[in-house]
Amino acid sequence: MTAASPGGLAAAQRLAEERASTEARITSLRRDFDAIVSSSASAADDEHDPEGSSTAFERQHAAALLEQAQEHLAEIAQAEARLAAGSYGRCERCGRPIAAERLAARPAASTCIACASRRH
Ligand SMILES: [Zn+2]
Repeated sequence: MTAASPGGLAAAQRLAEERASTEARITSLRRDFDAIVSSSASAADDEHDPEGSSTAFERQHAAALLEQAQEHLAEIAQAEARLAAGSYGRCERCGRPIAAERLAARPAASTCIACASRRH
């Protein structure tokens, strides 16, 4: 077996690891969210509950984190599709290669640093 080509086996492995950790995060975030929902459901009878509003905030916050994690999972799926199609590691805006350090830090990145910073 020869050394993995950059963007080939190494990228597939990084994406698999990223997917596994993101799925684990979604599982734990969903558990947090369910716990908040069930604790607020039991308090819902008491309309004078002083913690009612903070529970609503907590629930919103947990929902936002969950949504972010699910979006990230979708990005990973897109990156896996690009890897299969042979376009992985290429900026989808300018078509130039994405820096290896950026892909190492963010395996699901679809744009190069220049395009990503231009967007913000
Ligand atoms: Zn670019």
